[in-house]
Amino acid sequence: MMRIGHGYDVHRLEKERNLILGGVKIDYEMGLLGHSDADVLTHAIMDSLLGAAGLGDIGSLFPDTDIQYKGANSIELLKEVGKILNDEGYVVNNIDATLIAQAPKIMPHIKEMKKNISLALGVKEDLINIKATTEEWLGFSGRKEGMAAHSVCTIIKI
Ligand code: MG
Repeated sequence: MMRIGHGYDVHRLEKERNLILGGVKIDYEMGLLGHSDADVLTHAIMDSLLGAAGLGDIGSLFPDTDIQYKGANSIELLKEVGKILNDEGYVVNNIDATLIAQAPKIMPHIKEMKKNISLALGVKEDLINIKATTEEWLGFSGRKEGMAAHSVCTIIKI
């Protein structure tokens, strides 16, 4: 049985924050604001996986009121999500995610992001696709006020 899931997330950009996307620290004048490391791409991926499995969302799993998740490494949280799915008898079939950001250039970092995500989930890199787009200077992403990410995945019950 195959199930499909969708995840969406947004984080605000602020000065004096690290920019972490797909577990990669990217040199940029701003970073995303959040209780964890605010890795918007990894958050969308986790929500798509949990959605596919019918297991709620990361907000219920890793509440932002919980001090243990302050500054949390989202790739470590993704590992936990992967374990939860495996425990429920699911394997990841594929993930297709899109990051929406006006700047910086994301392309040079995509290979490393795919590697981080595939290692966290224990799946082959070619099951994971990461894309990036701008919104042509429109809206909050275009004004560099924040970044968004979408993820769609399929999982299979074994
Ligand atoms: Mg988030």
